[in-house]
Amino acid sequence: MIETNCSLKPFNSFAIEAKTEQLFYLKTRKQFPELLNHIKIAEQNKRPILILGAGSNILFCENFAGLIIKVELSGIEIIESKNNYQLHIGAGENWHQLVANCIEKGIDGLENLALIPGVVGAAPVQNIGAYGSEFKDFCESVEYIDLESGELHRLTTEQCLFGYRDSIFKTVVLGNCLITQVTLNLTKQWHPKSRYGALNDLKDKTAKQIYQSVCQIRSEKLPDPDKLGNAGSFFKNPVVNQEVANALLARYPTMPNYPQNDGRIKLAAGWLIEQANLKGRQIGGAVVHQQQALVIVNQGDATASDIVQLAALVRDTVKQKFNIELEHEVRFIGAQGETNLSEVLKRV
Ligand SMILES: Cc1cc2nc3c(=O)[nH]c(=O)nc-3n(C[C@H](O)[C@H](O)[C@H](O)COP(=O)(O)OP(=O)(O)OC[C@H]3O[C@@H](n4cnc5c(N)ncnc54)[C@H](O)[C@@H]3O)c2cc1C
Repeated sequence: MIETNCSLKPFNSFAIEAKTEQLFYLKTRKQFPELLNHIKIAEQNKRPILILGAGSNILFCENFAGLIIKVELSGIEIIESKNNYQLHIGAGENWHQLVANCIEKGIDGLENLALIPGVVGAAPVQNIGAYGSEFKDFCESVEYIDLESGELHRLTTEQCLFGYRDSIFKTVVLGNCLITQVTLNLTKQWHPKSRYGALNDLKDKTAKQIYQSVCQIRSEKLPDPDKLGNAGSFFKNPVVNQEVANALLARYPTMPNYPQNDGRIKLAAGWLIEQANLKGRQIGGAVVHQQQALVIVNQGDATASDIVQLAALVRDTVKQKFNIELEHEVRFIGAQGETNLSEVLKRV
């Protein structure tokens, strides 16, 4: 079950060539003791460890000098009660397939989150979101295995500390916890969330209709990673205080802005990038997508370095024009584990 010196190209949606020293496929819970043993050996040899889902939010900046655990735990159990459905889902299940199956069965709620690539176990990590819904809206609990002690724990939604593209899994317990199962709670008192974009114009606001519209809009708007390597939104939408937003609005009255519950204002990173004339900018095989400025694509032969250089150009140009610091949403993985744009730039 463990492979050595493997190519990671099939396991990242940017389709970047990189290798890992070791790759372990976690398919069943029976493998937990074996997994913990491999982790112990990797730690003794001072090798880094990375947990991988479908690789659709990751940029491998160089070869990985350690052990990658590819989570493929399967299984979906649905428990129906009078008012709701409780779903227990293995971390390796495909997210979109789950959404599609639910809609097919008449279990409503997840429709706005259709066509988000990746597996279920990665969904809580950055609290995936789209079209006014977020993973946290449906999450009851998240089960994980502590990679040091081997113990299984379960966190409630509150304990997961979900935020905008954020959770406890990106901060406090990062690196030490492998999500094994997710429990969702979908109420039968369903209400459509259709305030966003073209969903607003839908006549028939059933979950199935919203699902189909979301699929259609996303297919038209976003490049398909199977055809054009990418990891979706490269940068997060910046959230600024009212003063900063007002100053920008005075200069750019048409700037999209979204007031948040905490009084701050979310700006559209894609708009900022577009206004900075970066659409279509290219370095090597990496390009700022013509239709969607927030997405950096691999035109076929991009290296990780091309993508890193282009990301730096975008970040710096936006900073110069708007004095806004874009933060990347894509997780940067270096030889020794997670890193970031500034760190990677120091090394090239
Ligand atoms: C075309 C496209 C569109 C996208 N649209 C959206 C969108 O609308 N909204 C959105 O939120 N995201 C979007 N994304 C980003 C991506 O789909 C999500 O971040 C997704 O949850 C990543 O899943 P994955 O299985 O590929 O995770 P990976 O990329 O493999 O991993 C992502 C992170 O999660 C960690 N991780 C993965 N599995 C586990 C586990 N079992 N336990 C602990 N940690 C784990 C990894 O270590 C890594 O840090 C898009 C991506 C693409 C390519």
